Amino acid sequence: MIVVMKRGATQENLAAVVKKIEASGLRTHLSKGEEVTIVGVIGDKKTIANLELQMMAGVEKTVRITEKYKLVSRDFHPEDTIIDAGGVKIGGDEVVVMAGPCAVESLEQLREAASAVKACGAKFLRGGAFKPRTSPYDFQGLGEEGLNLLRKVADEFNLRVVTEIVDKDDIDLFCKYADILQVGARNMQNFQMLKALGKCSKPVMLKRGLSATISEWLNAAEYIMSGGNEQVIFCERGIRTYETFTRNTLDLSAVAAVKELSHLPIIVDPSHGTGRWKMVAPMARAAIAAGADGLIIEVHPNPEKALSDGDQSLTPEAFKDLMSSLGGIAKVMGRSL
Ligand code: PEP
Ligand code: MN
Repeated sequence: MIVVMKRGATQENLAAVVKKIEASGLRTHLSKGEEVTIVGVIGDKKTIANLELQMMAGVEKTVRITEKYKLVSRDFHPEDTIIDAGGVKIGGDEVVVMAGPCAVESLEQLREAASAVKACGAKFLRGGAFKPRTSPYDFQGLGEEGLNLLRKVADEFNLRVVTEIVDKDDIDLFCKYADILQVGARNMQNFQMLKALGKCSKPVMLKRGLSATISEWLNAAEYIMSGGNEQVIFCERGIRTYETFTRNTLDLSAVAAVKELSHLPIIVDPSHGTGRWKMVAPMARAAIAAGADGLIIEVHPNPEKALSDGDQSLTPEAFKDLMSSLGGIAKVMGRSL
């Protein structure tokens, strides 16, 4: 349930409402917007149904929330949330681009990629150090050495780091090196890890599961938020359908859906979303037109030699072309790049 306060409600009115809710053993979540103040109520359904708040001073109305996710919901928090990740704001006016190789392979490879993406305006360096590969015989990543390289190279180029975590026991390690912890598609419903990330202080980028519905995805984010970490960024990366031409079917309608249902930012990954480098640029442009807050794109100095996802990786030249085509679309959308 949410309690919408009247415009003229006083601090005392608000405090009395919060006190009454919490006295019943329920949790509250305050959202003070420019227009209205909303008190979100979380806890046992029956207790909530028995709360008598309508008649309290300063209360405009109470509204039942039927969805299971609450903190993630735009009803609880009508205004867009802007997340600060290492000083870069995600979800504000600027469309934020994250780019780099699928996997960290070596210092030289990462430096070349970082130099190329920085020169074109990317704000984040991406790269996996712990790779969730389909086959155990494929390159699994450099592990902590990869995290170390990411931090070192990102700092050399004044970039931030986003990288995928695959084990809840590694959270402290990742927090030392990364600005955003990425939860990959394969771990979207790893509830133990989501709960543990709820206790961590770094923003989390939650990728959509391979065949997750929007509702499952939002509920996964609720796991993180309900633990206390409210810095969640969604990432649409395509879902599995009957189509085989593309690696996944990039669901850009998810951008509009998430924007309607949630206040959290959403970015798009056209690399995994298509699996084909030629399709990355058109889908990246479409993502911005659809209202995405950012992009995450695989760039490799030499895609043919990449240890993972070469087919969908852009060369530095192709990335440059793409970036130069995005500014105009961002502008039409009232945003900067
Ligand atoms: C990745 O970003 O390299 C990755 C493995 O992505 P996903 O979890 O979307 O497959
Ligand atoms: Mn990849």
